[in-house]
Amino acid sequence: VPVVGVLALQGDVREHVSALRAEGADARPVRRPEELADVDGIVLPGGESTTMAKLAARSGLLEPLREALRAGLPAYGTCAGMILLADRLVDAPPGQPTVGGLDITVRRNAFGRQVDSFESGVELAGVDGGPLQAVFIRAPWVEEAGPGVEVLGRVVGGAADGRIVAVRQGNVVATSFHPELTGDRRVHALFVDVVRRHLAEQAGSVQSEHAG
Ligand code: GLN
Repeated sequence: VPVVGVLALQGDVREHVSALRAEGADARPVRRPEELADVDGIVLPGGESTTMAKLAARSGLLEPLREALRAGLPAYGTCAGMILLADRLVDAPPGQPTVGGLDITVRRNAFGRQVDSFESGVELAGVDGGPLQAVFIRAPWVEEAGPGVEVLGRVVGGAADGRIVAVRQGNVVATSFHPELTGDRRVHALFVDVVRRHLAEQAGSVQSEHAG
């Protein structure tokens, strides 16, 4: 059973833990560096990215998270979590640190103050069964994505038509919206599958090392 941590410094941790458990993962909160060492994948929840980044730095998790992602640990970020996974930010407080790992530029609170939150159907590449009901809460969007980034979903219609709100780069997935709040677990299922495949690949390469 894949062990999937949820960064539990701030934000909607419980909702992610339940969704991951329902998809067959051993989900557990991660608050300390030692706990990060035990997981096969990590979820960065929604919440407030400035606060989360500060708490991550204070609890000594920021650098270990960066290293873990560089070493290939699968990660999934929703909303504030997407902000933390971005290599570059716009409209963030100067010096707000990120974990990084995704070659994207993310704009914080991109949809504007007048539309604090809204819902919209978003079709995701690689997710069957029709559009997801995407819940956006003071959400970011992806302003620019590097060549190695796969765009999984965009807003359709309205003032933000065409804006990128879901991406994947290797084992790292991010959405501007919050599937953990809707009971639709298709993105969590996708992520648990990413973690399972990564585990299987690692087991395979360990085996061939021993065989060789
Ligand atoms: N606006 C928040 C931030 O900048 C993100 C909001 C959310 O996670 N729902 O961190």
